[in-house]
Amino acid sequence: EQLRLDVGSEGLRARALVRAPGGVHSNVRLRGPHPFIRSAKGAWLFGVDGRDYVDYLLGQGPNFLGHAPDAVVQAVSAACEGGLLYGGQHELEVQAAELVCEVAGWPEMVRFSTSGTEAVQAALRVARAATGRTEIVRFQGHYHGWVDNILVGERGGDWGVASDGQVADNLRPCHILPWNDAELLTAQFEQYGSRLAAVIMEPIMINTGVIEPKPGYLETVRELCNRYGVVLIFDEVISGFRVGLGGAAQRYGVTPDLATYGKAFAGGYPVAALVGRSDLMSQLSTGAVNHSGTFNASVMAMAAVTATLTTLRDRPPYASVEEHGLALMAGLRDIAAKHDVQLRVAGLPAAFHMSFGDADVTDYRSLQKLDLARYERLAAALVDNGIWLAGRGIWYVSGAHGPRELDVALTRFD
Ligand code: PLP
Repeated sequence: EQLRLDVGSEGLRARALVRAPGGVHSNVRLRGPHPFIRSAKGAWLFGVDGRDYVDYLLGQGPNFLGHAPDAVVQAVSAACEGGLLYGGQHELEVQAAELVCEVAGWPEMVRFSTSGTEAVQAALRVARAATGRTEIVRFQGHYHGWVDNILVGERGGDWGVASDGQVADNLRPCHILPWNDAELLTAQFEQYGSRLAAVIMEPIMINTGVIEPKPGYLETVRELCNRYGVVLIFDEVISGFRVGLGGAAQRYGVTPDLATYGKAFAGGYPVAALVGRSDLMSQLSTGAVNHSGTFNASVMAMAAVTATLTTLRDRPPYASVEEHGLALMAGLRDIAAKHDVQLRVAGLPAAFHMSFGDADVTDYRSLQKLDLARYERLAAALVDNGIWLAGRGIWYVSGAHGPRELDVALTRFD
C-alpha cells in the first residue's frame, strides 16, 4: 500500500504523519536526517534506501546487545509458541524477577512495567506513600520520561528549570537542582530535607551527555538521604546493565533504596521495572500504592528479560564494549581533527562525545549552550556516509560492535 509522508517543519527533528488511503496510520518521529529502516541485525541497520548503516546510536538504549540478539529472539518466539501471550501468574515472571535481583546485586523485590516512565512514576509514588511526604528533588538535565507531565497533573504544579538553588513556589513539590554540586545540595537539605520524600537522579548522567558523578558526590547524596529519612532513587533506565552488570550502583559502590530499569535489560523488548528494598516495595504488594497494568510482566516480556540478563551474566560484553570504544576513539582522533571536531570523553569510552572546539562537554552546564544545529549538521554528514549517530555527536558502542565495524566506521568517516 502506498504511504504518503507529511513532514512537519520542526527542522531536522520533524514529525511525520504517515498516511495510507483512508486515514492517518501513525505518528512517526523522524530523527535527524536518518532514513527509514527496513531491518536490523547486530550493529547494522538496513535502510529502505537500500543502504546499510553501522549503528553507533541505538546501542545507547535497548540495543546494547545489538539488534535482534539471537538469544532474545529465540526466547520470545518460544514464549509465543507456548501460547500464553497474556495471562496472570506465570513461572517466567518469578524467574525473571529472581534474575534481576541476582544480576543487579542489591534489590530485594521487583515490579515489572511496560516503560521506564511507568517505573519512575511507581518509584515516586512508593516513596511518597512510604514517607508520608510529597516533595522531591530532581536535577537539571536529567531525564525521567514523560512522568514529568504526570507530576504536573498530579500536583497541579508547573515544572520548569529553576535557576541554581532557587525553589520557586510554582515548582513545588519539585526542587530542580544543579547536579554534581555537593555543597549546594547539603545547604538545600538543611533548609527542607525533612520535607522531602525522595531524591531522584540519573546516577551517571547519560541523557544530556555522558557525564560521571564527581568523586564522592553519590556518597554525599546517600548520606544526606539517610540523615533526613529521604528515599534515594537511582533512575537506571539508561545506565542499568549497561555501564556494568550491576549498573551505576555497582560501578560507584553506592546503593539506592529504589531503582528503575528499562531499555537494555530486555534486548529491545518493551519492558521496564521498579526494584528496591522490600520494606519500601511492600507499598505495592500491600496495595497501598496500586500500580498495575494490563501488559505488565507479559510472558514475552519475561522471556526477553530472562534471555537478556542470562546473556549479560554469562557472556558479559562490557570488556569488549570498552575496548571497542577506546580503539574507536584512538582511530577517530586524527580523522576528527581534519573535520575540525574533537573527541572528549566525559564518562565512558563506551559513549564519547565528538565536540567542536569551544564546547566543554565534561561540564553539563555547557551542554545547555551547545550549538545543536551544528551538531545536527555533523550527524547528517555522518549518516550520509553510512554511520548512524546521535544528533549531539555522541558515539554509543554496543556489545555487537567488533573489528569489522571499527574498520568500516574509520573508513567511512575518513
Ligand atoms: N529514565 C531515564 C533515565 C531514561 O533514559 C528514560 C528514557 O530515555 C526514561 C526514564 C523513560 O523511559 P521510557 O522511554 O521507557 O518511558
